[in-house]
Amino acid sequence: MTPSRPAGFSTRAIHLGFDPADHEGALTPPLHLTSTFAFDSVEAGAARFAGEVAGHIYSRISNPTLDLLERRVADLEGAEAGLALASGMGAITSVLWTFLKPGDEIVTDTTLYGCTFAFMRHGLAKWGVTITHADLTDLAAVDRAIGPQTRIVYFETPANPNMRLVDIAAVSAIAHQAGTMVVVDNTYATPVLTRPIELGADLVVHSATKYMGGHGDLVGGIAVGRAEDMTQVRLVGMKDMTGAVMAPFNAMLVLRGLKTLKLRMDRHCASAMEIARALESHPAVGQVYFPGLPSFAQHDLAVRQMPGFGGMIAFEMKGGYVAGAAMMNRLQMIRRAVSLGDAESLVQHPASMTHSTYTPEERAAHGISEGLIRLSVGLEEVEDILADLTQALDAPTLRLSA
Ligand SMILES: *Cc1c(COP(=O)(O)O)cnc(C)c1O
Repeated sequence: MTPSRPAGFSTRAIHLGFDPADHEGALTPPLHLTSTFAFDSVEAGAARFAGEVAGHIYSRISNPTLDLLERRVADLEGAEAGLALASGMGAITSVLWTFLKPGDEIVTDTTLYGCTFAFMRHGLAKWGVTITHADLTDLAAVDRAIGPQTRIVYFETPANPNMRLVDIAAVSAIAHQAGTMVVVDNTYATPVLTRPIELGADLVVHSATKYMGGHGDLVGGIAVGRAEDMTQVRLVGMKDMTGAVMAPFNAMLVLRGLKTLKLRMDRHCASAMEIARALESHPAVGQVYFPGLPSFAQHDLAVRQMPGFGGMIAFEMKGGYVAGAAMMNRLQMIRRAVSLGDAESLVQHPASMTHSTYTPEERAAHGISEGLIRLSVGLEEVEDILADLTQALDAPTLRLSA
């Protein structure tokens, strides 16, 4: 690497912000398992509390292992600063509690991850925040939905579970004209496939439990954005309102996950493309929702906004829920489990699992069909994933009913 050349994504994910020379030559960053930090004097402690001197105080505010993770993810997302939190929901709630007050409004897409939907509908609403769902895939609808009380426009792209995409640049431009902040949940795309800040968003949240950690062995969250906003989220939302700080051990695991993030995403994308095509051509399968398929309603936006289409697929069986449940129960290698972005391929049924936080009427209104199946394509050999899906789809009961 010549010094004049800016380092690429994986190089920064592996090296940024750490020099072994500062740590007795240790190749990997030390794990700072400490709750608190000693001050040289009363005056030195007071200066840290007053913000006059930089330095750690207590691990619910900051910790050196988290600090490295925060700087790396911020850099990979093209943001000024980052914050590591206890979970994706810890990141989302800490961010929203920081910036909202009673009387404010959130404009959000029709589709949201189940717990985000529940937090807004049953949590924030109780405290006088108005939640307005609009079709954010329709720019005229975005414009109409934003009013004088709108403080935040919030969305996922691709959305969990039905894969809807939102045009980040176009929606951000409309929101900013109205003086509204844009918060994007980038869990599905990761900074490998989409960097919302570079497209105009103000703040990005992640469930680091998913692709960032990548190995199904931790629960964690990340937020990135402007330095002043992140300081607010750190000192108000996280420190005082949720206390949702990431454990140092989990930060170490996410730092390890980041080193292979691009490598893994490349494989997730390639395998998911192949599996989406196979599903689409199978006689027992109805609609397949995958941004890389030409049949995907927003395929043009996907091509414009994402250099790859990710590892998540949603689909419906022609036989609906009954056929879908039977197919899922026949899977032998693919695990029936929620979560996503792991090495293991995972399949789940949103209506009865991740999105059971919606009532059936709400699911119908929000575009989450009762028969939808969500597949997280793992890192196994794609032939083996395909073989398991094919044996489950080809089962005689389905042939008889076809
Ligand atoms: C899983 C998930 C979350 C919540 O993250 P946790 O780490 O489970 O708290 C938020 N948004 C999306 C899109 C998710 O998939």
